[in-house]
Amino acid sequence: MSKRDYYEVLGVDRKADAKEIKKAYRRLAMKYHPDRNSDDPDSDAKFKEASEAYEVLADEDKRHIYDQRGHAGLEGMGAGGFDAGAHGSFSDIFGDVFGDIFGGGRGGRSTSRRGSDLRYNLELSLEEAVRGVEKKIRVPTLVGCNTCDGSGAKPGTKPTTCTVCQGTGTVRMQQGFFAVQQTCHACGGRGTVIADPCHDCHGRGVKEETRTLNVKIPAGVDTGDRIRLSGEGEAGMQGGPSGDLFVQVMVREHPIFQRDGSNLYCEVPISFADAALGGELEVPTLEGKVKLKVPEETQTGKLFRLRSKGVTSVRGGPRGDLLCRVVIETPVKLSSAQKDLLREFQASLEGKKHNHSPKKTTWFDGVKKFFDGM
Ligand SMILES: [Zn+2]
Ligand SMILES: [Zn+2]
Repeated sequence: MSKRDYYEVLGVDRKADAKEIKKAYRRLAMKYHPDRNSDDPDSDAKFKEASEAYEVLADEDKRHIYDQRGHAGLEGMGAGGFDAGAHGSFSDIFGDVFGDIFGGGRGGRSTSRRGSDLRYNLELSLEEAVRGVEKKIRVPTLVGCNTCDGSGAKPGTKPTTCTVCQGTGTVRMQQGFFAVQQTCHACGGRGTVIADPCHDCHGRGVKEETRTLNVKIPAGVDTGDRIRLSGEGEAGMQGGPSGDLFVQVMVREHPIFQRDGSNLYCEVPISFADAALGGELEVPTLEGKVKLKVPEETQTGKLFRLRSKGVTSVRGGPRGDLLCRVVIETPVKLSSAQKDLLREFQASLEGKKHNHSPKKTTWFDGVKKFFDGM
């Protein structure tokens, strides 16, 4: 199966910077998040495709390899280029967990096997991400089947030795000059086959169960951050250790603030009169409203920096700032008396004595130069 180009998947340019990649991923992840699209089977695949592309393009080293050698360059770094833990493949929590365990691919007769790592995609509000939060999450996991005691065979029967590999779990194939050892496809490398499968677990020996976990999210996390819960992944097989659970953080868009690293941005509407005369504005911060002094002759788009009203990153460092961009609002629903006042005011500006519109003046100069040069 050929994979789509990661840049194409995220819909970004090959020169896109980390911020653009993150933004594109956030948009797709919100759109295709399985929790929101339970009735659309395609969204799951799209979500995984986008997550995989993001995993690679957000990692400088992996992106470099991908840019030079494409998908082939990332093979061997774990399933599909995912490299979650030191051992297991990184199977998605919404994905085909069974396929990962029983699909073979790890040659040799399995005696014990470490459980798969799992990923849980956790959506947080900006406030939760900034302050930290404790969340209950429900995680599907595999437990041994009681009916067959984990053997997968119908009670009273037993798994039998695989006749294709004689129980070794591998077969030798001659390829040109080389003899290659491969996982036996008849038994998936287990060395045994089940003639009469258990009805409860359909021969898997394990069943899916949902666990509830408390996850402490540290203050300052952001989209793309991952919290590792050691040993909370899939149960190991036949005494093997459990995998890890990775909680992947995704921060929802905030109606007021945008976050960029440890800084926050917001837009503050300001009346034309306040901008011209100066005044005190109330601006929002994550801790509530604060006063912001705006000097007279403030132009639209001006940024005001409120020190240390941003975010302290989970990686430490000083707390960021809040940057407020003032946007001048044109008054609406004016009465005829108010309109008359404005006309009167406008007329008072005419005359060449003072320049009341610095931007307009330079703009007209620029336009004049442009036409003169044609
Ligand atoms: Zn069973
Ligand atoms: Zn076999």
